[in-house]
Amino acid sequence: MKNLYLILEHLPLTILICIIAFLKTAQLEIVFFVLIFGWLLDIDHIIDYSIYLYRNKKIKISLIFFFSGKYFKKNKKIFVFLHSYEIPLFLNIIFYSTNNYEYIFVSISYLVHILQDQFTNNVKPFSYFLTYRLLINFDLKKICR
Ligand SMILES: [Zn+2]
Repeated sequence: MKNLYLILEHLPLTILICIIAFLKTAQLEIVFFVLIFGWLLDIDHIIDYSIYLYRNKKIKISLIFFFSGKYFKKNKKIFVFLHSYEIPLFLNIIFYSTNNYEYIFVSISYLVHILQDQFTNNVKPFSYFLTYRLLINFDLKKICR
């Protein structure tokens, strides 16, 4: 049940942003990217999980363990590179400098995902900044409370 929650937790807000994006732009391409960045951003957990598998010489992949997130503690590091406030900010700069203002919904969706994670995970205030995580060498103890 917890695994299902982890898969679906970002879906309600993402669907809401999809609807708003579609009503404002009528572009399915934008709705698609809103869905990818708002809902499926957690795909970057695969990197952290792969590091766990490699370091512990595990061959068998367990979806239950993947969704548990316990590999973060075992790795003692948290990478999740896509979970970084810098990326939606960078996307905004690109969207505005290329006059693709309607893509702002992609950035909003991305930002909402990270904000939701920020408030539902027990982390320190700057933990979702890639710059911060780089400076502390992705140390789990300095990321989590
Ligand atoms: Zn996430």
